[in-house]
Amino acid sequence: MMIKVFKFGGASVKDAEAIRNMSAIIARHLDSPLLVVVSAMGKSTNMLESVFRDFRDQKDWEPGLLEIKNYHTNIAAGIFETSDEIVGEIENTLQHLKDYLHNLNSEPEKQVYSEVVAYGERLSTQIIASFLNQNMGNTQLLDARDYIKTDSSFVDARVNWPETCQKIHSILPSLQSGSIVLTQGFIGSNQADQTTTLGREGSDFSAAIFAKCLKANSMTVWKDVPGILTADPRLAKSPVKIPVLSYKEASEMTFYGAKVIHPKTIRPLAESKIKLYVKPFNSPDDEGTVICEDGPDKYPPIFIQKKNQTLISFIDEELGFIDEEKIGRIFHAVHELNIKVNLMENSAVSFSICIDTQFDHVEKLIAKLRGPFKIAYNSNLELFTIKNYDQQALTKINDLKNILLEQKSRNTIHILHASNKATL
Ligand code: ASP
Ligand code: MG
Repeated sequence: MMIKVFKFGGASVKDAEAIRNMSAIIARHLDSPLLVVVSAMGKSTNMLESVFRDFRDQKDWEPGLLEIKNYHTNIAAGIFETSDEIVGEIENTLQHLKDYLHNLNSEPEKQVYSEVVAYGERLSTQIIASFLNQNMGNTQLLDARDYIKTDSSFVDARVNWPETCQKIHSILPSLQSGSIVLTQGFIGSNQADQTTTLGREGSDFSAAIFAKCLKANSMTVWKDVPGILTADPRLAKSPVKIPVLSYKEASEMTFYGAKVIHPKTIRPLAESKIKLYVKPFNSPDDEGTVICEDGPDKYPPIFIQKKNQTLISFIDEELGFIDEEKIGRIFHAVHELNIKVNLMENSAVSFSICIDTQFDHVEKLIAKLRGPFKIAYNSNLELFTIKNYDQQALTKINDLKNILLEQKSRNTIHILHASNKATL
């Protein structure tokens, strides 16, 4: 079976027109079995995050929820001739969220977060399944939480691969040419069937999980960019598309913060040699970028800007050297908190790590490691990386001010700085 996995992100389902366009793309690919993974519509995950924050901070969260309801019902009104039924379904779904929030006791913060934000994907697939069924028929909606099984870290949850693959195998008989299996990105569930999430922008990873477990022939991510570019088009003036990338190059780019694909996406695909296409949904016949085993020998310089970084330095209280035992202690804490280290550096008496500024990671690290270490940190930083740099590319770093850390290898340079942003 030539199974294809498609992933449509928030921008590709952000309004009625986008959804019609998505449906047209799907309609042209029904000659082989197709699994479609969809994210939350537009910026609705951000809206849900803000409902979560309001709830957590004991502010009035109901207006935020109303905004989410209006956003989705407006879209539904734009794609259905009579939207009463689907609007009723949307209201019903959101009523569950309301009831959930009203009845909470003292569940851990990350658990509540995951439950709340998962409503974005649940709503989007609910609406899209109805729409596809109305237009093409034969769309089966699956709840991704029944298939993607994870640990209980809730946010950035780790996948239990054997169990997940076993569950996903059961979808195989449903995958037939001419029909569509639709499911949510980003969400999964733990052993207790509580909702977990795979990290922001994690729908790409979801699609890769399905692709790997289904032994798909290819996976395609439909995006609002022509393919993978040498820099983020929102930040750079004239980025260039890279037609072919190796898994290794793509995976390194995402590790350093390239936004185009979620960092965890590449590995499962590379393990099973499944090609990943990144294509523009506005111009679906374009080649886009293909990510596969062998890329070109030489790549152009690639510029990556990762914002919202914090640099934390651990200094030995007694000014003793930072030895391996102490580094081990730091990493033990980092691992326990499921924190990703983007860059690190050691000196004689201190060890520094650069991490994403998110949740209460900094506070938690400090709470765990205060005592043996004196801890200092700087937030609001940007990690600017140039991969495959050449002399001309290096001129881009001349204007960077307040550089806190710089690391240069033969191929890559990383600069952690406190200027507003690098200008490209
Ligand atoms: N909706 C989630 C987010 O915005 C997941 C995704 O888009 O991939 O982060
Ligand atoms: Mg999204």
